[in-house]
Amino acid sequence: MNFFKKLSTLFSSPPSRQDADSYWLTVQCHRCGEVIRARVNLLNDLSLEFGEGEKTTYFCRKVLMGAGQCFQRVEVELTFDGNRKLLSRNITGGKWVET
Ligand SMILES: [Zn+2]
Repeated sequence: MNFFKKLSTLFSSPPSRQDADSYWLTVQCHRCGEVIRARVNLLNDLSLEFGEGEKTTYFCRKVLMGAGQCFQRVEVELTFDGNRKLLSRNITGGKWVET
C-alpha cells in the first residue's frame, strides 16, 4: 500500500510558493458577520481599461458569498494601475477586513 500513501502525501502537501500573481482580499459580510477570503488572479481575473491618454488600468469585480446559510452577496470592485498595484476599491454588502 506504499503507492497510495505516497500519492496522498503528494496531494496534501501545502503550497509553499509565495504567489506573486495573486491579490488576496478579506471581507466581512454585513448580514451574518462571516469573514470571507478570496483570491484575485492578477493575470486572469483583471480586465483592461483604457483611460485618458496613455493611462492603462485594470478592473476586477468579484461577488463573494459565505459558506453558511446566509444569502447576502458581497460585491467588490477593484481598480489596479498598469503595474497591477491597487488604486481603489469599492465594496457593497460587507466591509473590508484588514489583515
Ligand atoms: Zn452573510
